[in-house]
Amino acid sequence: MIMSCSRLLLLPTVRDIVKLYRLSAAKQLSQNFLLNEKITDRIVKFAGNINKSDVLEIGPGPGALTRSIIKKCPKKLVLVEKDERFKPMLEMLRDSSYTTQSDMKIIIDDIMNINMTELFTDVHRKAWHDEAPNIHLIGNLPFNISTALIIKWLQNISEKKSAWSFGRVQMTLTFQKEVAERLVAKVSDKNRCRLSTIAQTWTSPKLQFIIPGREFVPIPNVDVGVVSFIPLRKPKTHHTFKVFEKVNRHLFSFRQKHGIKCARTMFPPDLQDELSTLMYTLADVDIKTQAYNLSIENISRLTSAYIYLCQKYPEIENYNYRVSRQVLSKNLTKSLKIESY
Ligand code: SAM
Repeated sequence: MIMSCSRLLLLPTVRDIVKLYRLSAAKQLSQNFLLNEKITDRIVKFAGNINKSDVLEIGPGPGALTRSIIKKCPKKLVLVEKDERFKPMLEMLRDSSYTTQSDMKIIIDDIMNINMTELFTDVHRKAWHDEAPNIHLIGNLPFNISTALIIKWLQNISEKKSAWSFGRVQMTLTFQKEVAERLVAKVSDKNRCRLSTIAQTWTSPKLQFIIPGREFVPIPNVDVGVVSFIPLRKPKTHHTFKVFEKVNRHLFSFRQKHGIKCARTMFPPDLQDELSTLMYTLADVDIKTQAYNLSIENISRLTSAYIYLCQKYPEIENYNYRVSRQVLSKNLTKSLKIESY
């Protein structure tokens, strides 16, 4: 159970704690701390109503954002921090806020290794089509893992695994401003890339506000965007994450080029022109469409066409253009008889 939040006022400030423990920021863990309470309060505000809910914070560090979360009195708080140096100050926060240790759990580990299936209270579990459960993921993410982490979680969302076995769990996370802009970029926005289409296929990402780099200690050479994500009841494709992500990865592999030029990378050199044109024809997408102008619906149809071609010519599926001197290409050219459509 959470005790009175006013006890937080009795604690030394986060700035004093950082000084007291002589904490220097570890660059390899992308440590840029937020010490401005107004900003950490604002991040929490965009997470919605977290009172009496379960919250998981990623990378609490010395705990400034954690304090803003605690002020809203979540029922249960789980902290996942890789750097052991922060453990004593997080324990101090726990001792002044929660009556039992299980209500504020401190996990010293890499968030990339955490399966959230066991972390939350079963009573919050909701069916996928219900309203979102009272569970929130919040984090001022380390830059070095933020893209890999959101891609992993988008896959988990698509498979309703980990935290999303509890329903449509919402996230409020920070990203380097450019990454945040890509996540929300719509059709015809030059920032549109695979991250935009994957994120928008399974969630509705919203760029809530920008935090200037000068608000962090130490100051990074970028600004930061706060993005909230609510998983969609119905994803915008019926394809699995694995194949849809693969097709997206290829379609956006060369920025500013026609999608079809990128699509060629999915097929062995000798057949690239025929199969990529066939893929676009089957999907009824204009071959001149630039990648950033492709809608999710276009990409979903291109994925259907790609799957069809893989079924027809199974050798294509494992073709990897990055592996040089593909023997496959020669063999395929001999064995494939491309039919005209
Ligand atoms: N939440 C704090 C704040 O807002 O001031 C710190 C944010 S700092 C940008 C990122 C935090 O994530 C650091 O505390 C860092 O040690 C932690 N971190 C880095 N890599 C991590 C990982 N793989 N798993 C969990 N925490 C990680």
